[in-house]
Amino acid sequence: MSQAVAEKHPRGLYTLFFTEMWERFSYYGMRALLILYMTAATTGANPGLELDVATAGAIYGLYTGMVYLLGLPGGWVADRLWGQRKAVFVGGCVIAAGHFSMATPSTTMFFVGLALIALGTGLLKPNVSSMVADLYPKKDARRDAGFSIFYMGINLGGLLGPLACNWLGENYDWHLAFSLAGFGMILGLVQFRLSYGKLGDAGVLRNELSEDARRRLAKRFFGGCAVVAAALAVGGVLAAGAITLPQVAENVTVAILVIALLYFLNVIFFGGHSKQEVKQVVVIFWLFLLATVFWSGFEQAGSSLNLFARDYTDRTIGSWTYPAGWLQSVNSLFIIIFAPVFGSLWVWLANRKANPSTPLKFALGLLLLAAGYLVVSWGAANATPDAPASASWLVVMYFLFTVGELVLSPVGLSAVTKLAPANRLSQMMGVWFVATALGNLIAGQVAGRLEGLEPSPLFGSVALIIGATGLVALLASPFVKRWGGAS
Ligand code: GLN
Repeated sequence: MSQAVAEKHPRGLYTLFFTEMWERFSYYGMRALLILYMTAATTGANPGLELDVATAGAIYGLYTGMVYLLGLPGGWVADRLWGQRKAVFVGGCVIAAGHFSMATPSTTMFFVGLALIALGTGLLKPNVSSMVADLYPKKDARRDAGFSIFYMGINLGGLLGPLACNWLGENYDWHLAFSLAGFGMILGLVQFRLSYGKLGDAGVLRNELSEDARRRLAKRFFGGCAVVAAALAVGGVLAAGAITLPQVAENVTVAILVIALLYFLNVIFFGGHSKQEVKQVVVIFWLFLLATVFWSGFEQAGSSLNLFARDYTDRTIGSWTYPAGWLQSVNSLFIIIFAPVFGSLWVWLANRKANPSTPLKFALGLLLLAAGYLVVSWGAANATPDAPASASWLVVMYFLFTVGELVLSPVGLSAVTKLAPANRLSQMMGVWFVATALGNLIAGQVAGRLEGLEPSPLFGSVALIIGATGLVALLASPFVKRWGGAS
């Protein structure tokens, strides 16, 4: 890989690198603050919302879940109506507006801000990645290396966002920190807009619809969106009091799971596919379930593990205490350090025909994640707010998480592109992000359990569930490999 990285890449790659870096700076900076702000006391110089942990966890799950779920309509809007370039630009503006809403000390504007960021990210995130692909001719060998460079941009943002935003937010003012996230997004947008010339025709709308047909389609789509938004708002007002946010999060999780299941059953039984295609779809479904479990553990970084960093971790260096959210940067730092190592490892193994199969990599990813939870559960065993655990427990845990992410996440997407029946490729890619959405939703709800449970048994149970899933995945991997046509 390192050789491929050294090759010359289209100049537009660096435009998209910095756009995504600033977007992730704002996303991860804000996410690292989110649960800390929601659970902080309403008194004092830097008041929070003082929500109970179950409610804050549900909001975290609903928000981060929606961020990924809205990538589905976001991708559609770009394909059919706007082209990726416009979707990224508009998405970025909506995200910035969201962060600035949260910069005001109003609870209503806080929720408006969350909704705007979820909407904007749905428009930006999937489309900035498709633009990277669009920079290269089909089958260009540099494309994979281009994505590795782009992934560095993601994690540079993920590293710097919490460092800057949590320093400001936890020490001085939450709302100033939310606006810092907004300024990051603005920098990304200005840079993006000024470099259009470098993008060639990447992300420009090209579909067969006439201007007129497109306008009609847009009217129907945005009209539909307005109706759904209004129904949700009215439903929310009517249901307020009758249903709690943790219940909402639970119902949304079950609903998405049922819809995903029905979708797969429909494709499998009534999709009109050949026997081999059906087998491959079953494999995608299996990997989808495993990915959901993986992200439900991994994405607790910003929820339960962030609370653990604040309340049960010794964050002092000499007489100085660093912000809890700084530990959120550890995963990105490790990705930046180890992604090239793993890239070369896969190539090295492939040259020796010893590259593990995709189902085996999924099992490994889950087992590594479970090992991470085992470590933190152990570290948490004797930790109390007055005698907190060393931060090294979390650092070792994030190391294991990162290796798990590097083993599982990049191969997931490419497996879907290989296994999906040709006429369902974009659909299946969309469905793939539903696994991330579900994982995030669950990650918030698990954090809610911290209310009644001590961290150590909670993290221990998570380790057990993820470890057991990993074991099943390991045992099933030879069969899954055969069904998938050995990919
Ligand atoms: N950290 C990566 C990103 O932000 C992957 C996150 C995920 O897929 N859950 O893009």
